[in-house]
Amino acid sequence: MQTFWEQEFKCPVCSKKFHTLRLFSNAIKIRDRDSDMKPTYDGVNALLFQLVTCPECFYTTFEGDFENPVPPEKQKMVSELCERLKKMISVDLSENRTLKDGASLFTVAAAIYALLGKHLKAAEAYLKLAWLLRDLNNSEEEKKALSGALKHFTESYMNEELSEQQQIMVIFYLGELNARLSNKSEAIKWFSTLIQKFSSSNSAYVKLARKEWQEISARK
Ligand SMILES: [Zn+2]
Repeated sequence: MQTFWEQEFKCPVCSKKFHTLRLFSNAIKIRDRDSDMKPTYDGVNALLFQLVTCPECFYTTFEGDFENPVPPEKQKMVSELCERLKKMISVDLSENRTLKDGASLFTVAAAIYALLGKHLKAAEAYLKLAWLLRDLNNSEEEKKALSGALKHFTESYMNEELSEQQQIMVIFYLGELNARLSNKSEAIKWFSTLIQKFSSSNSAYVKLARKEWQEISARK
C-alpha cells in the first residue's frame, strides 16, 4: 500500500512552484483520541503532513489555505516573518520528518495565521503544536501552546463569523483548554454554555463536553 503522493503548489509569497508530500487517506489510521480529540495514530503520524511549507521562503499554512492570496498590505510582513523564522529553524520536509520537525512547522504556521489575523486557524495550529509537544513529553512547552490556542479561540469566538459547527468546536475548546490549564470554573462555564446552547446537536464535541463537565464537576 502506498503512503504518500506528491502534489504541486505555487507559493503565494515568493511564487516558487514546488512539490510536497501528501498522505493517502487510507494510510491514516487513528487508534485512539485524548479528551481534547488529540489523535494517536497507528503508523505514520498524519499531523506531520497537514501543513504545506514553501521550501524557498518557508511560508507555511494548512493545505487548503496555501494557495489563497496573501492580502497585499500583509505581503511584506509575512515574508519578513518567514525569513526570520527560516533563519531560526531548520526542518526536514522529507517523509522522514520527526515530531520535532512537525512542531517547528506548526510554530511557523501559528505565527503566520496570527499575523494574518486568522484566529481560528491560529488556534488550530497552536492546538496541534500542543499535541505534538505532548507526544514529545514536553509538558512545559505544551502548556504554552495550549495557552496560545486558548487566546486565539477566544479572539475567534468574540470577533469572527463562525458557522454553527465551528461555534460548537470553539466553545468546546474554550472549555477543554481551560480545564487542561487548571481554570476549573471557566471550563465548567464554557462546557455548560455548549451543552445548553446546542442540547439537540449530535456533535461529538457536545457529547464529549457532557462527559468532561461531569468529570470536572465531580473533582474537588
Ligand atoms: Zn515561498
